[in-house]
Amino acid sequence: MTTYTPMMQQYLEVKKEYQDAFLFYRLGDFYEMFFEDAINASQILEITLTARAGNTDNPIPMCGVPHHAAKNYIETLVAKGYKVAICEQTEDPKQAKGVVKREVVQLVTPGTIMEGKTIDGKTNHFLAAAEELSPTEIAFAYLDVSTGEANTSTIEGSVKELIQQLQAYTIRELIVTEQLYILMAEQATNYGIVLSRETEEMEDVKAGQYVSALPANLQPVAKRLLQYIERTQMRSLSHIQAFSFTESKNYLRIDTNSKRNLELIQSIRGGDAKGTLLWLLDETVTAMGGRKLKQWMHLPLASKHAIEARLAIVTDLLEEFFVRGELQKLLKQVYDLERLAGRVAFGSVGGRDLAQLRESLRQVPAIQAKLLESGKETLTALGRQLDLCTDIEALLSMAITDHPPISIKEGDVIRDSYNEQLDQYRYASRNGKDWIAQLEQKERELTGIKNLKIGYNRVFGYYIEITKSHLGNADLARYERKQTLANAERYITEELKEKEALILNAEEQSLALEYQLFVELREELKAFIPRVQALAAQISELDVFISFAVVTDKYRFTKPTFHDGRALTIIEGRHPVVEKMLNKQMYVPNDCVLTNDKNMMLITGPNMSGKSTYMRQVALIVVLAQMGCYVPAEVAELPITDQIFTRIGAADDLVAGQSTFMVEMLESQHAITHATKNSLLLFDEIGRGTSTYDGMSLAQAMMEYIHTEIGANTLFSTHYHELTDLETQLEHLKNVHVSATEKDGRVVFLHKVKTGAADKSYGVHVAELADMPQAIIDRARVLLEEFESKEPVKVSLLTPTQLLEHDQSVEKAKPVLKDEELQLSLFEAVREEPQLTQGERDVLEALAKLNVMGTTPMQAMTTLYELQQKLLNDN
Ligand code: ADP
Repeated sequence: MTTYTPMMQQYLEVKKEYQDAFLFYRLGDFYEMFFEDAINASQILEITLTARAGNTDNPIPMCGVPHHAAKNYIETLVAKGYKVAICEQTEDPKQAKGVVKREVVQLVTPGTIMEGKTIDGKTNHFLAAAEELSPTEIAFAYLDVSTGEANTSTIEGSVKELIQQLQAYTIRELIVTEQLYILMAEQATNYGIVLSRETEEMEDVKAGQYVSALPANLQPVAKRLLQYIERTQMRSLSHIQAFSFTESKNYLRIDTNSKRNLELIQSIRGGDAKGTLLWLLDETVTAMGGRKLKQWMHLPLASKHAIEARLAIVTDLLEEFFVRGELQKLLKQVYDLERLAGRVAFGSVGGRDLAQLRESLRQVPAIQAKLLESGKETLTALGRQLDLCTDIEALLSMAITDHPPISIKEGDVIRDSYNEQLDQYRYASRNGKDWIAQLEQKERELTGIKNLKIGYNRVFGYYIEITKSHLGNADLARYERKQTLANAERYITEELKEKEALILNAEEQSLALEYQLFVELREELKAFIPRVQALAAQISELDVFISFAVVTDKYRFTKPTFHDGRALTIIEGRHPVVEKMLNKQMYVPNDCVLTNDKNMMLITGPNMSGKSTYMRQVALIVVLAQMGCYVPAEVAELPITDQIFTRIGAADDLVAGQSTFMVEMLESQHAITHATKNSLLLFDEIGRGTSTYDGMSLAQAMMEYIHTEIGANTLFSTHYHELTDLETQLEHLKNVHVSATEKDGRVVFLHKVKTGAADKSYGVHVAELADMPQAIIDRARVLLEEFESKEPVKVSLLTPTQLLEHDQSVEKAKPVLKDEELQLSLFEAVREEPQLTQGERDVLEALAKLNVMGTTPMQAMTTLYELQQKLLNDN
């Protein structure tokens, strides 16, 4: 057995507790890594890999980073999804007997890191925890360690819905129970989510104040999250706020797919925010306001009263153009109060941070004055609610200098006359320096050397310097030589030595005291954190309201009104993002009128005519209105919508191994099973991913079901013209079409939605627009004419089962086989083939058994590769 040195033994002991993290083990001025950690880190961080004998025959791989530069390396590792355990020396090496004591003082993880590349000012950096309540319900808690905001909700569904939720909030780390870990480990890796197991919940005595407002079934998940934070961060987190509970019935619910389909916060292409509703709407000037806006977009309201209260504030701000401008100017000087409060709690706040806090607080009285001056009822109410925090500002003004440096160990942080003792030290040190200036003058006179100077360096202290050319003229008996330079000599005197001791002593004491005073001040400030957080909440909301007003002015939005019925009237509505991307004059506004009698719309029209833009614009107007913002329309009279479901676009979920058509069906299923009559459903081109009759039957059956069973406001678009006949059968359905016209044999899109069904499909024209070879276009025209001259199938007159029968009758010459029967029989036949080798038979067998729908693309690649290898080896 290998016996390691005592230090390596200590390392291994600590590492045992932190298997899933890089262990940064403090050795003097370095953090060292050993074994696997060293090999991996040297590659990821591109640092040199060395080795240490460590008392063994096999040298131990090792690499290290200097402790003053560690921050960057830690951030890089964490940004890549790793954890870093920081292990410090916890006793003075000079006093230590044997190996210096070391302990992990913090575990930095993707969800708990508070600074660096992964933290964006306008985005909350949430860490989440989840637990299964039942096979169809998950308890969910999420907390931003940097701001202290904490929330919980329940998620209907299972791991898939949980992952979607994590993606919607761009959450990178999830705390789970052992049970959930096993269930989702593989999927989490595919989606780049770091899973962290936490076996315990925080005890009630400690967690009580944080979770007491939660329903009983959500308390455990919140307590587990708190326990993880405490276990990994190991310090006071007094800025963490009590968990709130998002009760879904109070909000307009938009599932993650629909958020993506509508491009609310993330674009369909992912990543980039450009082209999203958030991108258009974000005129906030503080980081806190940016985060608040995002939160409001995730959770638009569902209470008429609450929405109208928000709209009233926007209205008043719209009427107060100058007040609004002045307020925005003031807000620009407010720093991120929430994150500053977080750093106070965390103990990582520096002098410059406190100066920023002070600067921010100094704006508040002016903000209040502007609000009160306006004379508008809602604005004066906001103004009166503001906590000016003048006492905190006064304390900071008294304590902190005007321009403190970043470091709190080099002085100039604490203001004069804040502390008497500090003043005395400073006096002694400054006095000493004056004395030295006088001494320089005096020595020049005594020696008659004009360029004699007194300098200071860390090694030799104060010295008198005389250049060599003057040495001959001077009487230097009083001087003691200290150092010889190329062109000068340096000396000291008894007197100078004494003064030096006094000055250095005073300086050292002054720095130590300053640091101590700063730490005390930081502790004192912790008591104020809740007030700063409350102020931050008010300021960030004000910022969002102003942003709404600015956007309204900029893009000519109008105020929506709400009623208690189901009717929805939008006159001259616009898709604000498409409009911005195009040129203002080019966008064609459209009406959307859904009444109690006719609350379903079937939209036909050629591809590219604007069907999905039209559907999205209706949804965006509903979302904006329920966020409390004005909307891009001339008139918008709206019901309160409880949920929005969309089936738009063709986003293949390749990571989850689902085909386009499967995604389409899953999204439709989700909508149909969760929608109520108060929901808004958008179905774009249902059934496109399968054969014509198949798709058409599904589309019709779904429309019938929504019509009779759900009764929700629904927009349906289709290119199956046959479906327009349904208008005569479904009493709440009406046809509209997006108009297009032909000019010189080419299609021209008018983008105007009109009543009635489209009379013609323009598919061939669109192909022409796409520069398809002319031969294909000509041939398609001939075929189209042929098809059109045949008797069309009257779809609307057939029931779905009849439709299917029709589909099959076309193929009645062939034996009818179910998919898997077809597959198996094929393989059966080949397997009987006598020429096949055993290897070939095995490959076929494996292929026949493969569950294609349950295989991810990566797994498919691997399987294919293995099968191919088998065949090659066989021959
Ligand atoms: P469809 O769903 O019918 O295929 P889209 O809704 O995707 O068509 O619209 C295609 C393009 O037409 C859009 O990208 C946009 O540039 C333009 N467009 C859509 N609606 C309008 C409109 N109302 N006014 C002007 N241009 C529009």
